[in-house]
Amino acid sequence: MRQKIVAGNWKMNLDLAEGKELLLSIIDGQINEGTTAIVIPPFIHLNSFKQMLSHTKIALGAQNCHQQDSGAFTGEVSAAMLKSVGVEYVVLGHSERREYFMEDSLSLSFKVTKVIEKGLRPIYCCGETLAQRQEGEHFEIIRAQVKNGLFHLNEMELLNCVVAYEPVWAIGTGETASPAQAQEIHAFIRKTIATEYGDMVAENISILYGGSVKPNNAEELFNCPDIDGGLVGGAALDANSFIAICNSF
Ligand code: PEP
Repeated sequence: MRQKIVAGNWKMNLDLAEGKELLLSIIDGQINEGTTAIVIPPFIHLNSFKQMLSHTKIALGAQNCHQQDSGAFTGEVSAAMLKSVGVEYVVLGHSERREYFMEDSLSLSFKVTKVIEKGLRPIYCCGETLAQRQEGEHFEIIRAQVKNGLFHLNEMELLNCVVAYEPVWAIGTGETASPAQAQEIHAFIRKTIATEYGDMVAENISILYGGSVKPNNAEELFNCPDIDGGLVGGAALDANSFIAICNSF
């Protein structure tokens, strides 16, 4: 069954004291049963956050990981390390990673494999730039990102993944895809999955929308038939906004 998910990507924001304060406010809020809320802070907060979350239903996610188990990869963190501190989800292929760290769907496919092998769940991001949309290339770009990053998996492995559609032009810009634009791409992603894996897999995978999701637009987006929740950046840094988005289904 499709899960309703709201994942808050804190990116490189908040020191430990600030992060704990925000997390405590989120823990104190009321998140409706039936929504999986995921907090995704910087790596360095994960261990202490896991302890703070131990008596809650809020899940913990990481923003990236390396594709190898261990070794001479200075500055990197492995999926096994994330697992060892209680992380359940790992964001892979965020557009900022693709743009600033030269990650591409093929290299991401190795991270996806490693994350699943370690018993974690990837939140695999895809999305087109404004130029690609204006050129009418967005369907092909998204199909290639999904195919190259995920289609090496078997059915059960794919069902462990969450897909996030994040149009690059809507991330951190205040510009949201309209519900109709977002729904069109979500339906396309589901159809792309159905063509390769069949309807059962396509119908049961959660596909999140990301790009300036706020309390005032979340409900309309989440009401779309193929949108199963959100990957939230800026609004995840405010407890009331994050909780309101979690409760927008
Ligand atoms: C994101 O970082 O994935 C994101 C969608 O950011 P924002 O909500 O700020 O647009």
